[in-house]
Amino acid sequence: MTNEEILSGGALGRKELITLLNSKNENKLRLFKKAAAIKKQHVRDTVFFRGLIEFSNICRKNCFYCGIRSGNTHVNRYDLSDDEILHAASFAHENNFGSVVLQSGENNSTEFIHRIENLLKAIGKLSGQKLRVTLSLGEQEKETYRRWFESGAHRYLLRIESSSPSLYKKLHPDNENHRFEKRCRCLVDLKETGYQTGTGVMIGLPFQTIGDLADDLLFMKDFDVDMVGMGPYIEHGHTPLYRFRNLLMSREERFELTLKMIAVLRILMKDINIASATALQAIDRSGREKALMVGANVIMPNITPGHYRNDYKLYQDKPCTDDQAEDFISCLKARIALSGNSVAYGEWGDSVHYLSRS
Ligand code: SAH
Ligand code: SF4
Repeated sequence: MTNEEILSGGALGRKELITLLNSKNENKLRLFKKAAAIKKQHVRDTVFFRGLIEFSNICRKNCFYCGIRSGNTHVNRYDLSDDEILHAASFAHENNFGSVVLQSGENNSTEFIHRIENLLKAIGKLSGQKLRVTLSLGEQEKETYRRWFESGAHRYLLRIESSSPSLYKKLHPDNENHRFEKRCRCLVDLKETGYQTGTGVMIGLPFQTIGDLADDLLFMKDFDVDMVGMGPYIEHGHTPLYRFRNLLMSREERFELTLKMIAVLRILMKDINIASATALQAIDRSGREKALMVGANVIMPNITPGHYRNDYKLYQDKPCTDDQAEDFISCLKARIALSGNSVAYGEWGDSVHYLSRS
């Protein structure tokens, strides 16, 4: 089938997805146009803000790609105080964001589990239950997911990183802490607990093929996810994967491929929430706004207190503006308006897909 035939509503199997992901020039523009039209029709030209609070870079895991992996001794480890976290959440509430994301390295201690429960309750209280909370705290027991859900978290982001078990193995140490099956199990547990469940992958990893990426999209479709956050893989000097940097495509190519992944996903899963990843901005200053034009509908402004942002370096060149969050937000709003979208203030921005599936 030609690109045109596929885009005019043909079935989207692995072969067709690969054709779309390989599209260039006019075919690529046609793909982007189609994704933008579907976005407008199913989730409007509206962007939801999620204030991202990266509250700790302490992690018990050792993923080969990540700059804050436990084995990296060059990291200045931090853990925000509860007051600092609640202050950031208040900022999001006062600026009518509707929602925040609490993200950190992975920790499964009893103390941590209690702490998150208390923070969730406190955020509910300070916002009169108006602020929705998404958690991105890695793999946990189902009981933990249930406790956090009952304390007020209703969305969870857990990227599968790659849906190919063999590629997943190349990206992680071979031990009980890093099993592909466990990560899949966690996604099932999250869904069964009732969360709006989000996943995602890194794009442009060493050893990754276009076929792998097509399989990633099919994984999201088969799993029937509510939200996706995916972005380019960006190398980090103090990680084991860095030695394969000569296998990588250029950053610009990874950027383009990420836009195509977002566009194809929008066509495949019309009513889900798709986040425009921060890593896009590390390659192109207006990268996140470009993603909004081809299908993404969520942006996660970083509202972590400025002096910690430098230490949450998952990858090299992670943008960490020194602006006060307030200045930064007004600049972001202007750039979003330029992309033809408008920000939905004070709305939770639940995934339309989730609302119709439940
Ligand atoms: N510890 C949690 C959440 C924080 S990490 C977890 O792993 O789920 C959040 C995401 O950062 C990961 O899911 C991964 O996809 C992304 N990430 C890590 N290192 C990266 C890199 N070098 N380039 C791009 N994204 C990266
Ligand atoms: Fe830890 Fe997440 Fe980084 Fe893996 S990706 S090392 S779990 S912070």
